[in-house]
Order: sequence, then C-alpha cells, then structure tokens
Amino acid sequence: MKLALIGFGQAGGKVVDEFLAFDSRIDGGFVESAIAVNSATTDLQGLEHVSRENRVLIGQARVKGHGVGADNELGSQVAEEDIDEIQGAIDRISVHEIDAFLIVAGMGGGTGSGGAPVLAKHLRRIYTQPVYGLGILPGTDEGGIYTLNAARSFQTFVREVDNLLVFDNDVWRSAGESVESGYDRINEEIVERFGLLFAAGEVQAGDHVAESVVDSSEIINTLSNGISTIGYARETVDTGDGLLSSFTGGSGFDEGESVNRMTSLVRKATLGRLTLPCDVSSADRGLVVATGPPDHLNRKGVERGRQWLEDETASMEIRGGDFPIPDRREVGAIVLLSGVTDVPRVDQLQQVAIEAQETTEQVRASAQKDFETLMDTGGELDALF
Ligand code: GDP
Repeated sequence: MKLALIGFGQAGGKVVDEFLAFDSRIDGGFVESAIAVNSATTDLQGLEHVSRENRVLIGQARVKGHGVGADNELGSQVAEEDIDEIQGAIDRISVHEIDAFLIVAGMGGGTGSGGAPVLAKHLRRIYTQPVYGLGILPGTDEGGIYTLNAARSFQTFVREVDNLLVFDNDVWRSAGESVESGYDRINEEIVERFGLLFAAGEVQAGDHVAESVVDSSEIINTLSNGISTIGYARETVDTGDGLLSSFTGGSGFDEGESVNRMTSLVRKATLGRLTLPCDVSSADRGLVVATGPPDHLNRKGVERGRQWLEDETASMEIRGGDFPIPDRREVGAIVLLSGVTDVPRVDQLQQVAIEAQETTEQVRASAQKDFETLMDTGGELDALF
C-alpha cells in the first residue's frame, strides 16, 4: 500500500530515513512520500535519504533550532503553533495517490512524543485516508522522565490515530551494544517488519501475481482500531540457482515441505519476539503474510498458518495472503496482530509513569518549601528592591 511517511523527532526521522533505504532496496514502492519534522536543526541535517525540501524545522521562534529537550508539552505546543509549516510539506504530496499516513515517533523524548499526536489529530480532521502511528517505546533504563513522557504521549497518540503500531525498544536491546550501533540495528529490525507488511499491499498486477496476494484493503481492515504488534520469522531457502538444483535438474522443491515450513514460520513469528510483547489470545484481528520467492509460496501453507492463528486468538477475523519477492533467498512469515488488549508492558509503563508523576510533584513541592526556608531571614535582611 502507498504511504505518506512522516517522521517526527529524532527517532521518527531516522526510522523514516531507514524506511526509504529499505523501500528502494527491495524495490517495494510503498513509500509515496517521506517527510521529517523536528525542532532540532542538527537532527534534520543528519538524515541521508529524506529530501532536503521535505525536512521541516518547527519551533524556530521558541527554541531557535536547538530542540525542546525532553519536554513533550513544549513539543506539543511548537507542533500546534507551526502546523502550517508541516501542512506546507504535506501539500506537496499527491494525497489522492496514498492509502494512508504513517506518523513515526519515539514516545519518550520531546519533539516526536509531543508533536506526533498533534499532527495525527490535524491530519484526521482534514483527510479521509486512515492515519496510523508507529510509536517507539523507550528502554526501561532510560529513566523516569522518558517513561512519563512515553506514557502520556501513548495515551494521547492512541486516541488520535486510527491504529497505533508499537515497537518496544526495551525488548530489542542487546547487552554490550553502544546506544548508537544499537539503534542502527534496531531501526533495521523495525523497517524490515513494518516495511514488508506495507510493501505486501503494494504488489501490482503483472509483478509475479500469486494466487492470493495481500491487498491494501486487507491491511487497512486489520488495522481498523486499537494497538498493533508484529511478529516475523524467516528461513533461508534454495532458490533454484544453486548446486542442489543442478543435481535435481529443477528447483529441488517439495510442496509438502514448503507447506510445513510456512506453518512453522507462522508459529515462530507469533510465539517469538513481537515488536510489542502481548498475550496473543487477546488479539481481535490478525493478518498472516507469507514472503519470499514465488515458487516457495503456496496457498495451503498460508491457509494452515492462518487457521492455526484463528485457533490461538479465537478470532474470526484472521486474514492471510502472499507477498512474492522474486530475488529473495528467504521465505518468511509476517504476523500482524491488531486490537491487542493484554499488554503487560503498557500496564507497567503507566504504573511507573504514575509513580514518576507523583514523585515529581512531591519533589517540586518540597524543593519550593526548602528554598523558602533557605531564603527566609526572618525579615532581618532587606532585598535590593
Ligand atoms: P525527540 O527528538 O525529542 O522526539 O526525541 P528522540 O527521538 O531523540 O528520542 C525519543 C526516544 O526515542 C528515546 O527515548 C529513545 O527511546 C528513542 N530513540 C531515539 N533514537 C532512536 C533510534 O534511532 N531508534 C529507535 N528505535 N529509538 C530511538
């Protein structure tokens, strides 16, 4: 499906930059347009693939290109004040060509955390296309302010988008990795999952159309409301140009094997690491997408996987389809679970945020009192004026 991507803040901009690279690497064609919005000049300058005219600096009057720090209330305000600047960039998109908007932001910071929900609200008022969010949750070790920001932004962003797709940095960190190289790797994981899903709905007639190619309307129907998470599993396959095929005189390909492979890939994708861990049975809707070389995709495999997911979720709304990628040496399964409600990480985020909010208020009140006590001379010392 064709998307207008808008990266808000540093994380949002970097992930959108990576989406552009991924889209051209797989020749996906799902990015119709990509915009980056930020209150920090240096973050915009660091992008590689988003075109210069699509980099929008907001909040110049207030923060002079230096960013809003981790103040997401200020992030919301500058987004509201400069919404016309953002709209100016969106006006250059052929909006009638797109199937949806996708706003990407890190929830723990300031610009994206505060600004993304403001933009979502604005876009939904103006356009008929669905507006999706891709919200990135902070690691639990990032500290109270990031958790508090994320919890407040999450609450607001969910309300303002048609569906919030979530990625939790916390479950994707690796020990011993620097923050920078860690994010580079994590961003690749993000775009591979979400990129393959959206590219799946963009296969055109004539492009090796398989029996049951996923259509963009199936993605849109699966993303009708609530919160979503994605699972992904893949396996390397012999694509028919290796040694094995020259011995067998063909592709060396066995249908039964490929059905079994697809069924277990769907299970692995669902039961393995999700972008947002949750109790799978709480999903309201789902979509299974088989990716890989057309020869290795078959209807029976996807259908078995789809039925298995129906049993796991007790949902009647599990869709399934193919995304043929001719030059790939891997077969994969993407499982999109939507309308999930049993998500321990969100409960935990809210709990820690409530505690952080209470502690902040107490610290502020007692600091004020302590300061008054410190400055109190019992009226014996006169101020200058
Ligand atoms: P903003 O520029 O004020 O919106 O804030 P940032 O985007 O820099 O940071 C917000 C949060 O996003 C941080 O707390 C991190 O959890 C996360 N983050 C920052 N950079 C990246 C990145 O490159 N990739 C990912 N996955 N997360 C990031």
